[in-house]
Amino acid sequence: MDQPSFTLSQSGTFVKEDFVINRQGIAAVGGTEVARVVGLRLQDLQLLEVLGKGASSLVRRAVHTPSQTELAVKVINVFDKDKRDQLLRELRTLYSSAFPWLVSFHDCLYDEGAMYIVLEYMDGGSLADVLIATQLTGSGAPSELVLGRIAAKTLAGLNYLHRERHQVHRDIKPGNILLNSRGEIKISDFGLSAELDSTKEMCATFIGTHAYMSPERLGGKPYSFASDIWSLGITLIECAIGQFPYTAYNGNNYFVLLSQILNDPPPSLPDAFSPEFRDLVLQCLTKDAEQRPSAEDLLKHPFIAMHDESLSPLDMAEWVKICTQMRKDAEIMPPS
Ligand code: ADP
Repeated sequence: MDQPSFTLSQSGTFVKEDFVINRQGIAAVGGTEVARVVGLRLQDLQLLEVLGKGASSLVRRAVHTPSQTELAVKVINVFDKDKRDQLLRELRTLYSSAFPWLVSFHDCLYDEGAMYIVLEYMDGGSLADVLIATQLTGSGAPSELVLGRIAAKTLAGLNYLHRERHQVHRDIKPGNILLNSRGEIKISDFGLSAELDSTKEMCATFIGTHAYMSPERLGGKPYSFASDIWSLGITLIECAIGQFPYTAYNGNNYFVLLSQILNDPPPSLPDAFSPEFRDLVLQCLTKDAEQRPSAEDLLKHPFIAMHDESLSPLDMAEWVKICTQMRKDAEIMPPS
C-alpha cells in the first residue's frame, strides 16, 4: 500500500520526511538533529490585500506585527493530495534557497487545512503585472537596457538553480519574475520545481504553464535544464514586443498553440532590436534542446556582457518606481 505523502498529528503538526510544520513554524529535521526552527507565528501575521492568484494559491501582502516587517504570504489549501505534494516540493526547494536572485523563504505555517508560505515581499510585483499595466496605459515596452538587466539576473538565478541545486524550475514566465523597489529582480515560485537526481537529469512529469513550455516538453519527451532556457526566451520576447509571440495564443486555443510551438520555426525579435538581443533570443529558442545553450553559456553572451552592471549603470529602482506608478494608473495595484 502507498504511504501517505504526509502525516498530520492530532496536535496539528504536519510531518513529511525532513519537515515538521506547525503553528510555531517549520523545523527541518535531519536524522535526529533539528537543523533550524523559525519563530514566526501565525497570530503575529496580519494578512492584508491579495497580491495575486496562482494555479492553486492566493498570495497576500502581510505584516509581521512584532517586527513591522512586510511579507508576502502564499496561502494554499492542502486538502487535495496533488496540491499537498506540489507544496512539499516547493517547501523543500525554498527552504534551502539563499541566493540573491531567488525570492527568499522565511517560514511555512500550517493551520486548519491551509498552508501559509511566508516569503519575501516583492513590492514591484511581477513582470506579468508590468506587461498588463503597459498594455492598459498604452506605455512603451521596457528598453533593451532594462531587458538586458532582467535577462542577466534571471540567467544568474537559473545558473544557480541548475548547476548548484540540480533543479529545473519548470515554470519560468513573466508572473514568476518579481521586482522590488530596490531595483532587484528575483525568480519566484518553485512550486513546480522538482529536485533532480544529478545522475538522472530528466523530469518525467508534466506540469507547468503550457504557453511557455519548450517543444521537447510539449512533445512529451524527457526534458531538463534547457527547458527553462526556452521559457526565458519566450518571456523575453513577450516583454520586448508587449505580446505573446505565438499568434495562436488567445488563452484557450491550446491545440493550435501546441502545433505552432512544435512545428513552426521559433519566434524571433523584429529587426528593430539590436543584433545582440536578437541573437540571445535566437539562442534561447533553439528548438533542439541538445543544441540549446545553458544558463552558464548564456551568461557569457555579448548581450548579457553589454548589460553588465559595471559597464552599463542603470537605475533599475527608478524603472520599478515608474512601473509601480503605471500599475497604479492602470488600477491593477491592489489598494494598500
Ligand atoms: P503561480 O502559481 O501562477 O506561479 P504565484 O501564486 O506564485 O503564481 O503568484 C501569483 C502572483 O502573486 C504573482 O504573479 C505576483 O503578482 C504575486 N506574488 C507572488 N509572490 C509574490 C511576492 N513574494 N511578493 C509580491 N507579490 C507576489
